Amino acid sequence: MQEIACLFPYLDKSGEYLFARGITLESALNSDHIVKRAIDIVEESLKRMKNRPCVDEPEVEAAASRLALYIITGASNIYLLRRFADSQSKMFTYRLRNTPGIQSYECKAEIASDLGLSVAMARNVVKGSLLAATYPIAIRWRDYIRYAPQDPDWAMINRPVVSGWVLLDVNDFERVLEDAYEAKILKMASREDVGYIVGLLSKVEPIYREIAKLRSLRPVTIRAEGRGEDPPCMRAIIESIRKGENAPHTARFAITTYLLRRGWDVEQIVDLFRSSPDFNEKITRYQVQHIAGQVGGRKEYSVPSCETMNSWGLCPTNLGCGVKNPVQYGRRASRATEASRPQ
Ligand code: SF4
Repeated sequence: MQEIACLFPYLDKSGEYLFARGITLESALNSDHIVKRAIDIVEESLKRMKNRPCVDEPEVEAAASRLALYIITGASNIYLLRRFADSQSKMFTYRLRNTPGIQSYECKAEIASDLGLSVAMARNVVKGSLLAATYPIAIRWRDYIRYAPQDPDWAMINRPVVSGWVLLDVNDFERVLEDAYEAKILKMASREDVGYIVGLLSKVEPIYREIAKLRSLRPVTIRAEGRGEDPPCMRAIIESIRKGENAPHTARFAITTYLLRRGWDVEQIVDLFRSSPDFNEKITRYQVQHIAGQVGGRKEYSVPSCETMNSWGLCPTNLGCGVKNPVQYGRRASRATEASRPQ
């Protein structure tokens, strides 16, 4: 159990294990060793350091990871919190996929249950069907909708669904768990007694200094804000990225095609994405260049139509702008302004 607590410190069972071992928040704060390790974990997570193996001092690692979350929470910086949760959830998936001894479906289903998901073995849902061989794990549709990535490929209509269970292969199941784990971290950061916890943390000098430093960190400012002639859909996407939210793949694709059309260059668009919690400069630049037709298949992509935007859940007006494509919105807005000027 100590290895599970170290690998997945934000599971309920990990918290219960530490408590049973007498490792509470108060005792962790009294240990210089755990406090130092917690601050290191904060820094590593924000820099997106790679996986840490759980070989030495698994209990210290587990306690320090939980303390690290409360240090981040104390900074009251939503950008850093999202970045931390994103980094930790990606490490969760890496460990889930690569740790020997936890590769059985049953073991992963148990982790899913700890995260509050309703999960079953597909062989018990579709008895005798070959579907269970390809899609061995079933998840209740409500949980699937809550945690599946917001992407057309993940729409329920494209998935085998039997009696309210969505059937998944292991890879996709692990991806769903990644979002559930991230949601769990964010939920822990908003627990009711968080004010009390942060009060305790502030009495420990190294943590106090770390929190003060984190409070002053902000994402790189976006050089261009949404402007009046930009349509509501694109303004909403820009605003969401500006707030450090994890915009879905479709939203990133749409805003990139739109801004290229508006004359932004690749570097300006890469800068826009800098405040995304999972920002990776190399990958982002390649993707923007790909959409611009500068690399890969050299095909320049068009701005999605309003119909498509609406089907992706990205049209806040429900097709109410009177245009067929977001690029037409600016022209229509300037014609309207022109017409309203006194002659
Ligand atoms: S109608 Fe078109 S331009 Fe207007 S918000 Fe929807 S997608 Fe954007």
